[in-house]
Amino acid sequence: MIHLPQAAIITERIQETKTIFTLKLRFEDPQIQAEYHFQPGQFNMLYLHGVGEIPISIVSDPKDSDFLQHTIRVVGRVTQGFSRLQAGDSIGVRGAFGSAWPLAENKRKDIIFFTGGLGCAPVVAAIKYVLKRRNDYDNVCIIQGVKHADDLIWRQQYQTWQEQHNVQIYLAADVSSPGWKGHVGPPTELLHQADFDPDNCCFMLCGPQPMMIAVCQQLHGKGVPDNAIWLSLERNMQCGNAQCGHCQIGPLFACKQGPVFNYSTIKQFIGKPGL
Ligand SMILES: Cc1cc2nc3c(=O)[nH]c(=O)nc-3n(C[C@H](O)[C@H](O)[C@H](O)COP(=O)(O)OP(=O)(O)OC[C@H]3O[C@@H](n4cnc5c(N)ncnc54)[C@H](O)[C@@H]3O)c2cc1C
Repeated sequence: MIHLPQAAIITERIQETKTIFTLKLRFEDPQIQAEYHFQPGQFNMLYLHGVGEIPISIVSDPKDSDFLQHTIRVVGRVTQGFSRLQAGDSIGVRGAFGSAWPLAENKRKDIIFFTGGLGCAPVVAAIKYVLKRRNDYDNVCIIQGVKHADDLIWRQQYQTWQEQHNVQIYLAADVSSPGWKGHVGPPTELLHQADFDPDNCCFMLCGPQPMMIAVCQQLHGKGVPDNAIWLSLERNMQCGNAQCGHCQIGPLFACKQGPVFNYSTIKQFIGKPGL
């Protein structure tokens, strides 16, 4: 599974917004499907025959053993090609790759997911994991920002999550649209509403790098220790296996030691010119 893509069939295609779609996949070989497993935060390399291969986070629940799910935004050549596929088409899948969110290690703590844009994709599997084990964690808070209110996907899913015991959801859009009930402005303006104990919490951040750096600075001011903050970083990845060096951040390979990093490990490298 590391070097050789395995054939997977698209069993369902969901158009989330004009430019974002979700593919539900199943490996053609039932044995590969049965043996495949991943942890929330990891990604697969998805191969479109004759076009190319890209890293995409896994958004399904790790407990769903008969399929896996990816949500993709069209930005360029390969994602454009994937957007034309339909149920019944076949793609190649390698994975799962990379580090995972520290979920088992942070039981009995307040958990805050802070995401921007489609940055929510790498934390969706983690949110599903935590909410399925709701009693293992203290407060759970999800803060999600989008550029335009119309970009918010999974609205029904946020509604369902909010109905669970002691789950706070705060949504923000830089630009609102008719009927938008969330905050208008950057999601960083919502952080003060989150209910957490700085000495007993775990933050999981994902999204544009400047947003994550701003959140880390705010958390520093609130007394949250660096080692309670985890970030998922997006880099240009080609091999997924620390061989090609395209995703290096200083001495670290984002595809292998990341994409989920502890802030204390990564803070000296992120946001630095040239890295
Ligand atoms: C670990 C990881 C998980 C990811 N998960 C998802 C996901 O769940 N859903 C999703 O839609 N996308 C995700 N991405 C981003 C996705 O891999 C890129 O959008 C994709 O590779 C673009 O390929 P393309 O050929 O369509 O675009 P290209 O033609 O290669 O590029 C189009 C534009 O996007 C920029 N770009 C390409 N790749 C990246 C990148 N990795 N980081 C920043 N800018 C980039 C290029 O510089 C260019 O401006 C993830 C990336 C990583 C590293």
